[in-house]
Formats: sequence, C-alpha cells, structure tokens
Amino acid sequence: MIKAIGYAATSTTAPLAPFSFERRDPTPQDVHIEILYCGVCHSDLHQVKGDWGRTSYPCVPGHEIVGRVVSVGSAVTKFKAGDIAAVGCMVDSCRVCPSCAEGVEQYCEKGATFTYNAPDKHTGGVTYGGYANSIVVDESFTLKVPANLDLAGAAPLLCAGITTYSPLRHWKVGAGQKVAVVGLGGLGHMGVKFARAFGAHVVVLTTSEKKKADALALGAHEAVLSTSKEEMKAHRNSFHFILDTVSAPHDVNALLGLLKRDGTLCQVGLPSEPIPVGVFNLVGQRRQFAGSSIGGIAETQEMLDFCGQHNIVCDIEKIDIQQVNEAYERLVRSDVKYRFVIDMASLQKEAGAR
Ligand code: NAP
Ligand code: ZN
Ligand code: ZN
Repeated sequence: MIKAIGYAATSTTAPLAPFSFERRDPTPQDVHIEILYCGVCHSDLHQVKGDWGRTSYPCVPGHEIVGRVVSVGSAVTKFKAGDIAAVGCMVDSCRVCPSCAEGVEQYCEKGATFTYNAPDKHTGGVTYGGYANSIVVDESFTLKVPANLDLAGAAPLLCAGITTYSPLRHWKVGAGQKVAVVGLGGLGHMGVKFARAFGAHVVVLTTSEKKKADALALGAHEAVLSTSKEEMKAHRNSFHFILDTVSAPHDVNALLGLLKRDGTLCQVGLPSEPIPVGVFNLVGQRRQFAGSSIGGIAETQEMLDFCGQHNIVCDIEKIDIQQVNEAYERLVRSDVKYRFVIDMASLQKEAGAR
C-alpha cells in the first residue's frame, strides 16, 4: 500500500482536516499520480455536509484532479512516469452494461465508481478523492491534458467543464439558438464559455447584480438579474435551451416560462430538496424538463481536446489546502470567481498529518 495524506471531513459538521490513509498498490492497469491541483466543486461541499444523505466518513473529496505520473503498471500504454495526467468524477464502472458499452459510463447500470465516497472494490472501503497528495487510478479512467493549457486552470474542466459541455452537445446547442445559463459559479462560467464557443446567443441569469459585468467578460451576450421580475419578463418564451447550474432550491417554474415551444430546461445543479414543477409550464408549450450527469470518459477527453484547440480554461482562484474550509464558506455565499483550485504543494505543510 502507498501512504497518502489528504484532507477529510469526519462528520457533517466537522471542518476538513489533515488525514492519513493508504492508496492501493498499483495493478498492471494502474497509473500512480502525484496530485498537483484539485478543483473545489460545490458537489464536494454537498457531500461533506451530507446534503444528499449518503456520505461515508471520513470523506476525502475532490474530483477535478491534475497531476504528474509517478509510475505506471506493466499494461499501461497511455502514460509513462513524468507525464501529466488528469482524473475526473469517476474511477471505474462495470464496463459491460449498455451505458458503459456506449461510452456513457456515468450512467452505468451497476453504478459508476465515483472518485470519492463510492464503494472501492480494491480496498473494500470507500474511494478517497483528490484533496490528497496522490491517487492510483485505472488507466481507462485517466485523461490527457493538452500541453498548451495551464494545469491549475485545466483542473476544473474535469467536472465543471464536462458537466456543462456534455448537455450543450447532447441538446445540440449552437448558432441560431438563444441559450440561458442560470447561476454564475464554477459550472455556470464554463457553460457560458462553451455555449459561446458553440456559436449560441448566451444569456446569464444571475442573482448577483455584481456578476453581470463578469458574465459579459466571460463571453455572455446579455446578463439578467433573475430576482428582477421586469428583467425576466423581457425574455419570456424566448430560449431554446436553459442550463440550470444552481446549487440551492430555487423557482424552476419562473425559468420554464422563459423557454420557447419545444425548448428544454436541463438541470445540472443538484439541490438536496425536490423541486416543484408546475405541469402547465411544461404542457402549454410542449417544454421539456431534463437532467444531465457529468460526461463519459471519451467525451471528457473530447472536451479537454476542444479546450486545447480553443484555449479554454477555467477562471480560478488558487488556494492552499489550509484555506479549504474558508473556500467552502465562500461557496455557500456564491462568492467564487469562478472556481477555487487547491495547489497541492501546500499539503507538504501537513507532514505530521494524523
Ligand atoms: P457554485 O460554484 O457554488 O455555483 C452555484 C451558483 O448558483 C452560485 O454561484 C449562484 O450564482 C447560484 N446560486 C446559489 N444559490 C442560489 C439560490 N439560492 N438561488 C439562485 N441561485 C443560486 O457551484 P458549482 O460547483 O457550479 O455547482 C453547482 C451545482 O451543480 C451543485 O449543486 C453541484 O452539486 C452540481 N453539480 C452537478 C453535476 C452533475 O453532474 N449534474 C456536476 C457537478 C456539480 P449567481 O450568484 O450567479 O446567482
Ligand atoms: Zn463536481
Ligand atoms: Zn456499466
């Protein structure tokens, strides 16, 4: 086993704190990665706080991982020691069900093995994520980062990037379409960049007046204060597609009313409470209320390559791991521009981790 240190939560109320654990000895298929950067996703916060009611403690979060390969197993072909490798939200799946066969492992019928807080067939415990100095991952679930991309800025592509890229591609968002991105946080700011790159007319719906200028700077054509009835009314029945990235309960019916006939509202945000939907808002204009989960491994690589070709990375605020609890408090207040990324070199200060 490989000794590892990271940051873990031990209960729904405990702050993240230094934690020592072990990674498995690499199999012939495995890549052993020294983690350089890990993004902070709002899902990490939901999980740590037990919002979704299914967290095992201790919980080491983190699924936006970029690092350097330390060593590879004898059957590994994609990487050699010293290469840059990335890991996203999944580290395994059944590989044989129809979803896995079609390359959408996130919808694996047996349940994909998520990067943290999932049953770990190798250790018999749960998987531990990227707020750590190393990880051991099957080559099939590792990704290549285009050489021109800043590594810290690329890390959040592994979740915030693919989670917005995938639905925009699935619903064929592009030129001639008007698209709303709801919530300008980690996911939302990437939704803006991709929708713009795909040629759509992009409108950000935000609760934060002060983010309007940022929305335009990130590539949106318009920014709307979603708490203003007047501003919202001007967009009634006008959107082909709405990407909802909001992390907390909110009024989805007000958003459905902004869709054109046959338009789709896709939920990627995961508030813990059920969201009431007025069926008249769907039936009246044959609108669709949909959802989407991250993206498959092949599509994640496609997204990374697209970012390489178009020089797209996330706008980040780099933090030391000792600042992660403060970063969580800021996430709760929607105060992030637009993704926190942990510089894992800061973990070296935790040499005495318990
Ligand atoms: P984030 O950076 O905190 O951004 C969320 C944004 O939502 C905030 O910046 C804020 O934007 C808006 N918001 C927050 N509370 C709100 C409220 N009460 N009413 C209206 N708007 C509100 O979070 P994130 O990392 O982008 O993640 C967003 C959500 O997606 C989380 O629930 C996360 O778990 C989920 N997620 C899902 C997937 C998936 O596969 N489907 C993958 C990753 C994350 P404004 O200030 O602009 O209003
Ligand atoms: Zn995430
Ligand atoms: Zn499967």
